[in-house]
Amino acid sequence: MNCNNCIKKPVIKLTNSNISLCNKHFIRYFEKKVLYTIKKFNLIEKEDKIGIAISGGKDSFTALSILKQFHDKKIITLEALAIDEGIKGYRDLKYVKKFCKDNKIKLHILTYKDFFDNTLDQMVKKFKNKTSCSYCGVFRRYLLNLGAKKFNFTKLATGHNLDDEAQTILMNQFRNNPELSARLGPITGIIVDKKFIKRIKPLYLVTEKETTTYAFLKKFPIKFSECPYANQGYRDSVRNLLNDFEAKYPGTKHSIVDSFIQIMPMLKENFKEVKPLNSCKICQEPTSREICQACNYKGQLNDL
Ligand code: SF4
Ligand SMILES: [Zn+2]
Ligand SMILES: [Zn+2]
Repeated sequence: MNCNNCIKKPVIKLTNSNISLCNKHFIRYFEKKVLYTIKKFNLIEKEDKIGIAISGGKDSFTALSILKQFHDKKIITLEALAIDEGIKGYRDLKYVKKFCKDNKIKLHILTYKDFFDNTLDQMVKKFKNKTSCSYCGVFRRYLLNLGAKKFNFTKLATGHNLDDEAQTILMNQFRNNPELSARLGPITGIIVDKKFIKRIKPLYLVTEKETTTYAFLKKFPIKFSECPYANQGYRDSVRNLLNDFEAKYPGTKHSIVDSFIQIMPMLKENFKEVKPLNSCKICQEPTSREICQACNYKGQLNDL
């Protein structure tokens, strides 16, 4: 079997169609799709200062390398923001530093130790009865938003792909949480609030398989090990369910995201009146409570 566009051997068969593509034509297809996403959803505007949240995984390297095209053409300024949780033997930003240096992208690093007085390794020992991903996720989102403001980013780009979005949409459905779904989409959030830097997802319409293939063909220096504290039970179940469904009924993931895009404007409209945000009494960061969840966890850690 040949590539649909030439006589070369294909490297991938697209899940949503019968199209097989060779190395060159797949890279062209992939980049075109990401550029289409950026244009269709107006993800970037001239003179934006975009921060890319970079972890060293395939998704963030891919998003960075494509957004860099806009940086090189001087349409936007692109900088990278990495969060170092402090996980010995796992979170190693060596390749991230080298990648940013080679690509001439300024890199900022914020650490859990500096902001929360503890590395994740220390937190796990103290918080014996808590699920690590629950507080780690809170701290990570907190630092990303804080860093985005500190470095004057107009938007924060993340490497979320179509699979991630399809999983989150389903999880919110299963848990009856339409308000959380209203915050999803290629540009997150419901209302414009300068306390929250908008997140953009340039990989919104490309699948996990496509992103993995692209990163592999581009020879990005990816580490494939998993966080030793990963505890994403519910998401894992939804991921497995979706992968099974996709194998039996190809196109399922696209259908979930496509139908979500159709109802998204109504959802955002419906929830635009949600309670205005307060400023946390301790750190002044936005929160729906008096004290934000990050300060709450930080206080608990200090008491342990
Ligand atoms: S897998 Fe969980 S604990 Fe590990 S870095 Fe991610 S959110 Fe944190
Ligand atoms: Zn080809
Ligand atoms: Zn706070």
